[in-house]
Amino acid sequence: MQYFSTRSKTETAAAAEAILQGLAPDGGLYVPAAIPDAQLDDAALLSLDQYALTAHILKKLLPGVPNIAASVEAGYRGKFEGEDLTPTVPVQNAHVLELYHGPTSAFKDMALCLLPYLVAESGKAVGQKEDVLVLTATSGDTGKAALAGFANAPHTRVMVFYPDGGVSEVQRAQMVTQEGDNVCVAAVKGNFDDAQRGVKEVFSAFKGTHVRLSSANSINIGRLAPQVAYYFKAYADLRRQGTVKAGEQVDFVVPTGNFGNILAGYIAKKMGLPVGTLVCASNENDVLTEFLQTGVYDRRRTFHKTASPSMDILVSSNLERLLYFASDGDDALVASLMKDLSEKGFYKVPDALLQKIQSEFACGKADDAQAFDAIRRVWEEEQYLMDPHTAVAWRVYEDYRKKSEGRRAVILSTASPYKFAPAMLTALHIEVPESGFRAMELLHERTGVPVPAGLASLKEKAVRHKDVIDPKAMLSYVEEKSLQESWR
Ligand SMILES: *Cc1c(COP(=O)(O)O)cnc(C)c1O
Repeated sequence: MQYFSTRSKTETAAAAEAILQGLAPDGGLYVPAAIPDAQLDDAALLSLDQYALTAHILKKLLPGVPNIAASVEAGYRGKFEGEDLTPTVPVQNAHVLELYHGPTSAFKDMALCLLPYLVAESGKAVGQKEDVLVLTATSGDTGKAALAGFANAPHTRVMVFYPDGGVSEVQRAQMVTQEGDNVCVAAVKGNFDDAQRGVKEVFSAFKGTHVRLSSANSINIGRLAPQVAYYFKAYADLRRQGTVKAGEQVDFVVPTGNFGNILAGYIAKKMGLPVGTLVCASNENDVLTEFLQTGVYDRRRTFHKTASPSMDILVSSNLERLLYFASDGDDALVASLMKDLSEKGFYKVPDALLQKIQSEFACGKADDAQAFDAIRRVWEEEQYLMDPHTAVAWRVYEDYRKKSEGRRAVILSTASPYKFAPAMLTALHIEVPESGFRAMELLHERTGVPVPAGLASLKEKAVRHKDVIDPKAMLSYVEEKSLQESWR
């Protein structure tokens, strides 16, 4: 099975090459020529544990990438808080799929624990000799998840740039204490866009040199594929609990930013999982909600800083893949829509395409006040604590369930509440202390919910990465670092 660029089917690559490249040369995203059938009937689905299930799905989506089962073992085993990597927990009349029990307490671990192994194996598959250097600019969460995923992974190095003063105290501590001989972290004197621009410049400057650069960004197909697997796992959990009958459809409600998580649910559906409606939940940055209602995607709008920062986004990259699939692979249409987006700042999809998308997706939005209200109510009624991103989805679910025709719903939970302790205290009407670490302690004292080990131990950890650099110095910094034998 080949991969195509969403913008031109003549731009093809094998799965391994697509993983190594990240973005297609024409700026499009890689998509499988056809979404494969999972070939999992009910009995087969229930017979596999999460490791075997994940390997099964990855083999279907990434043919030709060697040693997938071993990669799943190495990537996941021993790195999560419990035996069950992604528990499906009943809350009121719904289920919450907890995706945050990995090393950094956020759902990006689900993909970034596996990506380094997929990158290393892909490198072997294409006969590459040199190590891969992964560069990432981060506004907080992705950087830490990439560091934790790639730390000490074979044949890879990872370098993360974050805006100096632009991430929370806890996020910074998570990054600068990262251990591993192949990791490097630097603060950039500027904002996230400066760091992002710097990384792009490094990418173009290194083109054609001996250094193989790659990105841990969510447009990489190697990040998307592992996310498909946990939809199957959640469905299997509902079957085992007796919540649904074989083949019965389940709705999934997803707190959405870059559209990667929810697109993985769409791919799971196309692979044969009985998915009903996919509900896209937005915070005040509601560009996707508006698109799903009107067919117009318009990024010319005010950017809101919210209590669910990982969903604060104006350009949702993975939506491009949905446009491709839902238009039955109309690459010319996708290319022209993306051109409109970059040149005019908006695009409008044809009515027939909008109707097709609306037949599979619902949407809704919740602002901070609504999300905080949901956090407090669910805590008071159920003693169940959800983070502000999950709470956006929960609130959207509360509106949606009135029209869901009684179908079962799973709400995807994307972060530990302890990653956003100050916001949690605000939601619970508890006074917020100045220190982020103290906020975590206080949230624990008041709720009794255990603090994830990786966050609890942060305060004691030694700072290993102290470099602060000018955005203009990023290129020379990467050049110099890439020549060093070790970053110990
Ligand atoms: C990245 C992230 C999201 C958004 O996921 P997308 O795949 O970008 O839609 C939601 N919640 C949290 C906590 C995240 O880190």
